[in-house]
Amino acid sequence: MTENDPAKAEPSSKEAIGSDVDPRTQQALDRIKRALSRRNGDEAVRFFKDATSHGLLPNDDNVLAWLRQALGNDLTEKLISAFAGLPCFYCNKGVIPCDDCNGRGYDADRTLCTECLALGIDRCDFCGGSGWFTIDHVPHAFQLNVIMRRVLAAGKEAEVLLASGVPVVSDSEAAEARKLAAKDLLQVNRLLGVLENMTVAAKREESRHAESAGITRKATAACEALAPKLHGRACQLLGVLADAARAEAASSIRTATRRIAERRAEFYADLASSKSFAGTLLRHPLLLTDTSETPDRIQSATQVPRMHDELGGKGPAIR
Ligand SMILES: [Zn+2]
Ligand SMILES: [Zn+2]
Repeated sequence: MTENDPAKAEPSSKEAIGSDVDPRTQQALDRIKRALSRRNGDEAVRFFKDATSHGLLPNDDNVLAWLRQALGNDLTEKLISAFAGLPCFYCNKGVIPCDDCNGRGYDADRTLCTECLALGIDRCDFCGGSGWFTIDHVPHAFQLNVIMRRVLAAGKEAEVLLASGVPVVSDSEAAEARKLAAKDLLQVNRLLGVLENMTVAAKREESRHAESAGITRKATAACEALAPKLHGRACQLLGVLADAARAEAASSIRTATRRIAERRAEFYADLASSKSFAGTLLRHPLLLTDTSETPDRIQSATQVPRMHDELGGKGPAIR
């Protein structure tokens, strides 16, 4: 083992931070501090990962306690929020052009693309359509906090979305209503992606750390309470897409255009009554297992804010 061996250099999270802190460790902490002070969370996360990979900072289960001592509570909370709000590197807010139809919405023979609902936009496989960096690449010590922040942020965003109205189709504005409904549907789907990912992550966290069960079960319950409401909104929006396609079919002059619009109307109407959205970007099998029990599972809309108070958490900015 040489003096430069990172394993030897890595500070133990159980050691107190004293005046004898390695100058390179101090330098790494200062870089993270500066990035957080500039509100550059992405950069702070990069500096943190870089420092841990070089053995300059501890990267075990006690690292948060170590950081609270080294950086203070406020900056440590900011670093946790930076991890929670880190966007997926492979997509834009959970979506990418659809590979199945090359973003056209139709196959070469003019068959509707089921995967992307003929929208030409698919969900990103890397982040499950959530738009956030996968939690698997977040250090273990941060994961429980990241789960809570993401569930809270999704809850707040869903509250605003569900409180807003559903677009209405009138014959002259069918195209406009279609665009608005498609935009809302993709937002609903991104939120369902967040809830699905966090449900899986919370269950895994609980299996690793039984002592976290009190918190992880609150996260799972919040996801399960919100999912049917978002599923219901997705069905409503598919109904709007069906209405818009019907209106477009009625007003189209060309026979080919009318037939395509009729096919879309039928497709959306069928999907609106689907429980699982199988075969489309809206599927979330690990979240929406059986919606036939939906009415009983819907709980008070105040559950998410209550959970927020109990945890004293601050969600990341809603994107
Ligand atoms: Zn497609
Ligand atoms: Zn992504």
